[in-house]
Amino acid sequence: MKCEQIQELILTDYIDGRMAPQAKGELEKHLMTCHECLEFARVAKAMAVEPFEKGTREKTPESVWMNIKEELLSQEEQPAPGWLDRLREVFHSQFAFPRPVAAFAGMCFVVMAVTLVHFSNINRMPAQMSAEQDEVEYMAALSVRSDVPTSGYGTSVEKYFL
Ligand SMILES: [Zn+2]
Repeated sequence: MKCEQIQELILTDYIDGRMAPQAKGELEKHLMTCHECLEFARVAKAMAVEPFEKGTREKTPESVWMNIKEELLSQEEQPAPGWLDRLREVFHSQFAFPRPVAAFAGMCFVVMAVTLVHFSNINRMPAQMSAEQDEVEYMAALSVRSDVPTSGYGTSVEKYFL
């Protein structure tokens, strides 16, 4: 093996302790003969492994483990979402309108409701409405036909009131 390959291996598998025994043997044999690679291995080990070996292991506080345990237990206790929740989710995802659209829809509903009430009133009082309509038509005729004689229409009622 070339020094380049040896040093590549030193940085990866050798330091990680993941080398197959035979490859490791070859590498260590090279290190015995090659001062450069031996030095490389020493520096690499000093920089990549020893800081962690010397480091003290921090003990996780008991409260952290308790919190994790509680969280896991509470997740187990929660029942799976029912069909109603899923329906609500689907509804929210499908009909999530922006605010102006919702406001517009609300306005349309109000207009529709008012219109419905209005027309149902018309159906309930057809006689009154037709009378009103006659009046409107008469007034319209008056305003349009300026040549209508003001002396009367020659009806029998006028004999009594004019
Ligand atoms: Zn070498």
